[in-house]
Amino acid sequence: MRSKIVAGNWKMNKNLEETETLLTELSGKLPDSEAEVMVAPTFVNLSAAVRNLENSSIQVIAQNMHFAESGAYTGEISADMLLNIGVDTCIIGHSERRAYFGETDEILAKKIKTALKNGIRVMFCFGEELEDRKSGNHFKVVESQLKNALFSLDKDAWSKIILAYEPVWAIGTGETASPEQAQEMHAFIRKTIAEAFDASVADNVSILYGGSVKPGNAAEIFSKPDVDGGLIGGASLVANDFIDIIKAI
Ligand code: PEP
Repeated sequence: MRSKIVAGNWKMNKNLEETETLLTELSGKLPDSEAEVMVAPTFVNLSAAVRNLENSSIQVIAQNMHFAESGAYTGEISADMLLNIGVDTCIIGHSERRAYFGETDEILAKKIKTALKNGIRVMFCFGEELEDRKSGNHFKVVESQLKNALFSLDKDAWSKIILAYEPVWAIGTGETASPEQAQEMHAFIRKTIAEAFDASVADNVSILYGGSVKPGNAAEIFSKPDVDGGLIGGASLVANDFIDIIKAI
């Protein structure tokens, strides 16, 4: 059975002190929930976050990693470095990495292979741009992102994959996909995976929605049958908002 997940992507926000404060607030207010709750602080604060959450069910995940095992890659972080500090899940393919850091489908496929080889669970982000949706190409774009990154994997590898459908036009813009648009795309994603692999792979993979999820719209989006939770940017930086989103699931 697939998990419900609510994950907060803190991006390049919160220094060490602010990280500690937010984590303490979150773990103090965390509601009982069937959902897995995750937060992705910046790299320099991951170790502190792991220590802070030692007695909490909130999981610390990374925002990115490199595809090489080690070596001359100035400024980069390896799978082993994450595992070594107790982080075993990593976001890969966020639209900001694609747009600002030139991460192509080919690079992302390499990162996913390295992550899985090292036992790191992958939260793979993908989604169409506004012009793709306007021109009616959104299904095609999403299918090709999935195919390029994930369709060469073995069936078994899918137990370590979480998907986060994030239409780029809805990220940080305040514009959310309607619950119907989210459901339509999530159902399409599941069908595409069932055709490429099988129904059990498709049924068991969690598909999160991301893009301006807030306390006010979370419950309706999460109520859709193929939406298994959310990847939350802005609203995950405010303890009460993130807690309310967790409650919405
Ligand atoms: C994100 O960046 O993954 C995201 C969903 O951001 P926001 O919630 O701010 O739109």
